[in-house]
Parts: sequence; C-alpha cells; structure tokens
Amino acid sequence: MCIRRLSWLLLAIFIFSGCNEQVPPSIDYSSVDAPPPRNKIILPPPLPPKPAPHPAAPSAQVNAPTGWMPSHSERAWSAIIVHHSATDNGNATIIDKWHRENNGWNGVGYDFVIGNGSDSGDGQVEPTYRWRGQLTGAHTGGTPGNWANEEAIGICLVGDFDRNVPSKRQLESLAKLVRFLQQRYHIPKSRVYGHGSTPGGHVTDCPGKRFPMKWLKSNIN
Ligand SMILES: [Zn+2]
Repeated sequence: MCIRRLSWLLLAIFIFSGCNEQVPPSIDYSSVDAPPPRNKIILPPPLPPKPAPHPAAPSAQVNAPTGWMPSHSERAWSAIIVHHSATDNGNATIIDKWHRENNGWNGVGYDFVIGNGSDSGDGQVEPTYRWRGQLTGAHTGGTPGNWANEEAIGICLVGDFDRNVPSKRQLESLAKLVRFLQQRYHIPKSRVYGHGSTPGGHVTDCPGKRFPMKWLKSNIN
C-alpha cells in the first residue's frame, strides 16, 4: 500500500472512531398522555392494595430534602397531577399572588412549584403552604366529588409548555419528587396524570402540548 493510500486510511479510521463517542440519552419530548373521553363521569382506577410497611424500606427511599416532608399529619394521597404555569416566569410566591388576586383563592393552588431559573432556581422545588399544611388543593377542577383536589398532589412546573419544553433540571427534579411521593404514599404510575388527562377533570392543554409525559412515565416507578 502506498503511503498516500495509507494516510487516507488512517484519516478515515480517525474520523470514524470519533463517531463511537457515547452520546448521553436525550429527553424524549413526545407525549403519550391522551385526554380521557368526556361524555361520562370518570373516576381514577382503584388503588392497588397498599403494602404494609410505611414508609418503604430505607434502601429504596429517595433521598428527599427535609422541606419535602409535610409538617402536619399526612393526608391519604392517592394520585399526582402535573401542571404548567403557562407563563414564562414565576415561583411559589408569585403564583401565590396570582391565585389570590386573579382567582380569589386563599393562596397558591399547588402543593409544589418547580422553578425554571426565572424567579427561582432552575429545577428548584418549592413546597407550598398547601403541602406543609396538608390542605385541599386548588389545581384540578371539575372532578367528581372534587377528588383530584382532595386526593391528588398538585405539582406545577414554571413555563409554557405549549410553546416551550421544560428544562432538563426541571424534569430531573420532577421525576425525583414524583418518585419520592409515589414511594411515600404508594401511588402507582397509573395514577400520575397530566392535568388534562385527569379522570373527570376539565378539558385543558395543561401541562402543555409539548410536555414530555412519555419521558416522565419512563423515569418513575
Ligand atoms: Zn393545570
């Protein structure tokens, strides 16, 4: 083989070896969370029997920040509902103000708010007064017997996910928080909803057409 051909061969090997570099798995932003049919009253599926020990074995526990632990005696939570703020900015304090002034509520309707770096840290989880006090939520209207606000934990990600997608840090925090709550209250994956797919709830795009529900479902238990 002549030197020229050999050098071409070495160059080719050099170029193609670069293609073997490990690419980190990217977030699949597609959604599989189809809204439920609207022509009849729909309740969530029955809960499976709860395992006896509570909470789960320490080895399986999510290492949760102390602020995630409620300070009052805990409600019998049976579902988790994910929302977006439908705004570019916000945090728990700002949404609290919006919900008081615009909706006439006692305060922010969610149990947790996950920031996007605008008014709180990117991926920062803020438990709200509703969570600390284990109060009825004000995040998912229209469900029979108001079951969603009574039994479901409301988590809001700051952002408008009809137009944008959540940040990687927001999604990582959400998955960690959901896993913690699932474990603590024995909530199956089948009872983790986007607002718009909540059984019996109002028709809404929330948490946004571009919210990656498929990714969330594949990153929780
Ligand atoms: Zn919502």
